[in-house]
Amino acid sequence: MSLRSVCVFCGASTGRDPVYREAAERLGEEIARRGMTLVYGGGAVGLMGIVADATLRAGGEVIGIIPQSLRDAEIGHPGLTRLEVVDGMHARKARMAELSDAFIALPGGLGTLEELFEVWTWGQLGYHAKPLGLFEVMGFYGKLGAFLDHLMNEGFVRPPHREMLQLSDSASGLLDLLDAWRPTVVPKWEDREPR
Ligand code: AMP
Repeated sequence: MSLRSVCVFCGASTGRDPVYREAAERLGEEIARRGMTLVYGGGAVGLMGIVADATLRAGGEVIGIIPQSLRDAEIGHPGLTRLEVVDGMHARKARMAELSDAFIALPGGLGTLEELFEVWTWGQLGYHAKPLGLFEVMGFYGKLGAFLDHLMNEGFVRPPHREMLQLSDSASGLLDLLDAWRPTVVPKWEDREPR
């Protein structure tokens, strides 16, 4: 079954270089071109606003999920297909995950990483079996990839869990990878010593 909706985590800032904005635009356009729904944090600022605007401009559907407390700070996007206002950050992440068939992180800051890692750990524990990937822009995620390999090489992350995270510097390439991904069920706790 092909993916119908994708959640995009990304910066509430645009970053210094225009390449980040361009990547957010390309991703939004590709999501719309494929007839997929964009699910995201609902803000109008930073790369969040850019990916939402690009999807809408290209005729796609966009659902935003924003906590009441952030509605003013991130300026809840006024032109979305649907904006859901929720109680807090936990409710936002749970709702975004519920509505999405896959997850992508564009470049971003602490919030972006937090959202990506939470959904990845949920996958690792078998709470969901949905694909996730990084949209690579000018080597932005290279150092994180190297550190993740280090965690695996040091025996803290199992190879199949490391490999859950796809990576591409092209919007269509990344969506193709996510579409083709099939879960392999590997228990997190396989190597636990019996008591
Ligand atoms: P950032 O990557 O820091 O620019 O944040 C991007 C998005 O993540 C914004 O929508 C923030 O509201 C959200 N965010 C920030 N901190 C957190 C957090 N602790 N948990 C979940 N989302 C967050």
